[in-house]
Amino acid sequence: MSSVKPQRCIQLHALQAGHLTLPERFFVHPFSDTARRTVPSLSFLLQHLDTDSGKTTRIVFDLGLRHPTSNYPVPIQRHIQTRQPLTTEPDVVKSLEEGGLSPSDIDFVIYSHLHWDHVGDPKAFPKSTFVIGPGATALLDGDNPTLRGGHSFFEADLLPRDRTIELSPVEDSDSTHSTAEGGLISFHQPWLPHGSVPRTMDIFQDGSLLIVDAPGHLPGHVNLLARIEPHKYVYLAGDACHDRRLLTGEREISEWLDDHGHICCIHANKEDARRTIERIRVLEAEGVEIIFAHDVEWEENPRNSERFFG
Ligand SMILES: [Zn+2]
Repeated sequence: MSSVKPQRCIQLHALQAGHLTLPERFFVHPFSDTARRTVPSLSFLLQHLDTDSGKTTRIVFDLGLRHPTSNYPVPIQRHIQTRQPLTTEPDVVKSLEEGGLSPSDIDFVIYSHLHWDHVGDPKAFPKSTFVIGPGATALLDGDNPTLRGGHSFFEADLLPRDRTIELSPVEDSDSTHSTAEGGLISFHQPWLPHGSVPRTMDIFQDGSLLIVDAPGHLPGHVNLLARIEPHKYVYLAGDACHDRRLLTGEREISEWLDDHGHICCIHANKEDARRTIERIRVLEAEGVEIIFAHDVEWEENPRNSERFFG
C-alpha cells in the first residue's frame, strides 16, 4: 500500500482583460514597417485547494488593461494613442464576475511586472495582497533612469504599500528563510532551481505553483509555472516575449533608435531577456505549455475557448 499523497494541482483559467495593438517593429527583427497586431493582455485565475484544511487560495496573475483608460495618468494616456485599436471590455473584474467571483474573493494579485498594460486597476481589489518581483518597488519610487519610452511610466501610488509584498532578491537566496508547511502559502521562500529553471519559489511548498525569476523585460519580471494535472504544467510567460516567432527562433529581439539617437529595446536588458526566452524554449521542448500575456495565437485557438473563466 502506498501512502503517497496525490499531487496538488492548480485550477487555471484565463481571464479576458482587454486588447491593444502592437507595431511589429518594436518587438521582432526582421520586421515589416507597417505590420501591427491586435493582441490580448491576458490575466489568469489560479485556484489552489489545500485538501487538508479545505482552504481554497485564489490568485490572479496580472490585471490587464485599466477600465476606463481615462483613469490612467496622462503620460500613459498619451502612450496608448500609439497602441490603438485598444479595448478594455471586458476588464478583469467583469471577467471574474462572469464566473461568479468578485475582486474581494481574490487573496493575492501577483504581477508579472508593472507595465501599464498589466497592472489594471489595483484599487478595484480592496482586500487582495499584491505580490511584485524583486526590484519592482524601485520602479514605483521613480528609480528607473535607464528605462526609455512612453510605456515606462510608473505610478508612485499604484499599490497599497501595506498590502504589497516584494519578493526577496534572487542573489540573497539561502535556505534560512522561514518555510511554510506544505499547502500553506508563503512568499518568503528561498529561490531554488527546479529542473531546467535556475530560480523558482515554491509558494505552496507542494510543487503546484512556482514563481519563476524571469529577468530581462523589466526589473522584477516574474513568470509562473503551474501544475494543472499530475503530469501537466503551464508556464505563464508574461512579457518574456511578445511574439511566438521569438520562441521558435524565426525572429530576433528588435532594437530601434529614438529621436535622441538612443538605442531602445522593449526589454530593459536584452541579453537577460534572450536568456529567459532560451529557458522557456527548453521548457516547451520538455512538454510544458507556454502562454504569453499577449498570446493572440493561444487566445484564438478554438481549443482554448473553454479555458476562459465563466
Ligand atoms: Zn511589458
